[in-house]
Amino acid sequence: MSVTSTFTVLNHYREYLLERYDNFPHGRYVSVILIRKTESETIFRTEGSGEGLVKELVTAGRREATREPIQRVVISKRKQTAVERRVGRELLREHGLLGTVTVGREQRPCALNTNAPCGKCIDCMVYGYAAGGGGAQKSRVMTDDAYSLAPASLVTGTRTFNATFDNGTMRNPFDGKPSTSINEDEYVLPETHFLDTETLKDVTPGEFQYVLGNILRSSRYGAISSRQGRVRNMITAVIFSDTEIFSNLELTQEVYDLLLEAQGGNELDVPLNDALVERCVQQATDTLLRDLVGRPPLVVRGEALGRLLEETLMLYREPERLKGLLEEVTASYKDLP
Ligand SMILES: [Zn+2]
Repeated sequence: MSVTSTFTVLNHYREYLLERYDNFPHGRYVSVILIRKTESETIFRTEGSGEGLVKELVTAGRREATREPIQRVVISKRKQTAVERRVGRELLREHGLLGTVTVGREQRPCALNTNAPCGKCIDCMVYGYAAGGGGAQKSRVMTDDAYSLAPASLVTGTRTFNATFDNGTMRNPFDGKPSTSINEDEYVLPETHFLDTETLKDVTPGEFQYVLGNILRSSRYGAISSRQGRVRNMITAVIFSDTEIFSNLELTQEVYDLLLEAQGGNELDVPLNDALVERCVQQATDTLLRDLVGRPPLVVRGEALGRLLEETLMLYREPERLKGLLEEVTASYKDLP
């Protein structure tokens, strides 16, 4: 018996998933609506870029009274999936399920951000790859930049520090004098909420479990070199549909309006209450889905969502079963044309 056939909860939603991987698009979408909340001071920036926090000027809300521009902190889409891919690849590595690539006379394991992806492992097949020597797979996990609910001015802080020298101290290794160069670091405050949707397109039940597991097991999204921020991902709904749903920005703006109404002020009161944010996200989801052109989507939340997530948690608690599933999914790519 295959591991896939044991997903009694997920298999209820089978008509929205693919039986097996196919090269052609089928228009089956699974959107995972997420609240990402920082649990410590966090710096989101593209690794090694040396840049500060990314902020963008966008419209605050969707009501007449809130259509004014504000700055929001942005977590780039690349940043989000890079973290989750790494978490998934650790698992594949542990079970020997990353493919190998021949580079010159060498056999190398599939690696991220190199010119030599294997094109055969679950990561390459789900999140996509482009090989230098030809061959490509479009990502079937679509993400967008995520925005902070509150304006940047309310959820960021800055700290100055003396730059360290090569030897990792504040003293010059040559003359022993203290560092005089001052750097400034801008960070996101703890308990800042971001809204995000990850859209999975044409995935199989096994691939769905893999991506969901990666989201649930990722907790460090900050810049690697400096302070690592802890982020908690809370899934508020899983939506099955035959078309793409609303954007992150629309959702953020609608929730912003609902929060203002609930709090009864002109500016958000931060830190925001988790339960209130979740309630507003649910309400905003319903409002925005009404504008969707397509077959009415199936929204899984509340108890039904709890059962779906529980099934994923159980799978990840049983290493042998999980390994079996990952092997099954990997094998399903073998006989592709
Ligand atoms: Zn690969």
